Amino acid sequence: MMKQQKYPLVWHKNNFFVKIFCSIPNIATGILIKINGIHFVVDPGDGILRDLNKEIGSRNILEISDLFITHGHHDHVGGVWSLLTYMRVMNKKSTLNICYPEGCVEIESIYNAFRKVYSKTIPYKINLRVSRDSEKFKSKGVSVKPFPVVHKEYLHDGITTRQVPAIGFKFYYGGIKVCYGGDTAYCEELVKNAKNSDLAIIEAGHDEDTPDDMHMTLKEARAVGESAKEYFMVHVPE
Ligand SMILES: [Zn+2]
Repeated sequence: MMKQQKYPLVWHKNNFFVKIFCSIPNIATGILIKINGIHFVVDPGDGILRDLNKEIGSRNILEISDLFITHGHHDHVGGVWSLLTYMRVMNKKSTLNICYPEGCVEIESIYNAFRKVYSKTIPYKINLRVSRDSEKFKSKGVSVKPFPVVHKEYLHDGITTRQVPAIGFKFYYGGIKVCYGGDTAYCEELVKNAKNSDLAIIEAGHDEDTPDDMHMTLKEARAVGESAKEYFMVHVPE
């Protein structure tokens, strides 16, 4: 069953809460996952700090334990610098984990620049977790499984494309499964992970009917979404 389509998109089951502030191609993404007292942020694009401040307030922003990054495109990482810096200024004490796909040079560059600019004045620990495979891991008692997806970008000629390091995430807690594919073309890994999830967050960023290897068409996204119990279609061109 497809849920409503206007941002923010909100979903919850028992104490598993998901809020998608925004997911507009080339503009911004921003997803909050709240489970009991746990706060995860997925794909913090531009505006994430404003949205989080309104939604959970400054004290809870400092308690965010994990950032999950599907890939390095600006509409998915544009808010990372703001978050890191805000947490520094507001004196975050707890560790921040950042999970991202191997080879995502954007996240490593933002992290290195942050360390360089603020060197010895960062009050919290940052733990980089590079995802190399589909190995499940746990954070704050939530199981997380990254999985590889297919997402490309254009080179400067506007014709040639290259694969970017890109993953999706599946979150498991208390028998509830939530799958987010990030940006991806139709691919087996996504099909497998979305299936029977309680919620699937599926992109439909390709605005034509013929499939490509960057984004999914509405038809492809719907087919994947329908295999989950409920789904949101996101990243639809506006
Ligand atoms: Zn992208």
